[in-house]
Amino acid sequence: MTLEPQGVVVVVGGINQDVVVRAERRPGAGETVVGDGPAVVPGGKGANTAVAAARAGASVVMCGAVGDDDAGRAQVVALAAEHVDTRGVRERVGTATGVAMIVVTPDGENSIAVGRGANATVTGPDVRRACAGAAVVLAQTEVGAEPADWAAAACAGRFVLSLAPVLPLRAETLALADPVVLNETEAAEVVGRAADDPAAAVLAATGARAVVVTLGARGAAWADGASSGRVAGHLVAADDVVDTTGAGDCFTGTLAARLAAGDSLELAVTVAVAAAAESVRRPGARRPGLSDGGQSGTP
Ligand code: ADP
Repeated sequence: MTLEPQGVVVVVGGINQDVVVRAERRPGAGETVVGDGPAVVPGGKGANTAVAAARAGASVVMCGAVGDDDAGRAQVVALAAEHVDTRGVRERVGTATGVAMIVVTPDGENSIAVGRGANATVTGPDVRRACAGAAVVLAQTEVGAEPADWAAAACAGRFVLSLAPVLPLRAETLALADPVVLNETEAAEVVGRAADDPAAAVLAATGARAVVVTLGARGAAWADGASSGRVAGHLVAADDVVDTTGAGDCFTGTLAARLAAGDSLELAVTVAVAAAAESVRRPGARRPGLSDGGQSGTP
């Protein structure tokens, strides 16, 4: 892929240590399931998104927080190894780095519980300092609603909102989102029901400038005030779907990188669908984008 000159993408979001267990099925209430692993790997939706954006060719600055522990230092090293600038990552004394407990089943699906740890300590000054001068600010709600509100207010460029998880944000924040990116489940949560045209329904419900809804294997739908469309998913044979953890993060990071490079929303969605489809063929939440020749990332 040819890389065009582009502005800086600042990602405000979660940084976690992922603890991954592969099991035949997810545990039910009160149940213990024994599986393979654990694999302990770098993660967090924000950090994964930042890595995907960097792999797609963007200059990326990460804004977030880790604890003053080995896990936190490992996250910073892992980001730096992926050419993500970590100047916006704060180390909080006396706080644990966030942890995601992930169970992956043979169909490639996952279930995740996150202990937020230091992610809950991101402050307004942290966000404002990091966002100054960015071409694209991508806020991801794993660090809470307020940091996304602060990021929107501080953003002088294009504001991209990853509403994962869905949290109540200020109306002004939603109105600046260009686009807000969410998956089908999150879209139904925002709209209050499953919609035939989820992107248009989220657009109406949020007042965002644009919306992108990811549709798993079916690709993604997008809408802005003027037009809308769908990009079909890339067919990945069921046997080749190894792990869908982080497919959305790969999608959103690639999308932000392409928007920073000047692509139209439709073209950026098209590239992001292709990158995310490639990512589900590999284990772990950080998989190659299209720009790195298919070299395996972590784990
Ligand atoms: P999330 O990971 O946030 O739940 P999705 O499941 O919608 O998000 O996946 C995000 C993107 O990853 C999709 O838009 C699609 O491009 C790609 N993707 C996910 N699952 C598959 C799959 N089984 N086959 C091909 N592409 C997939």
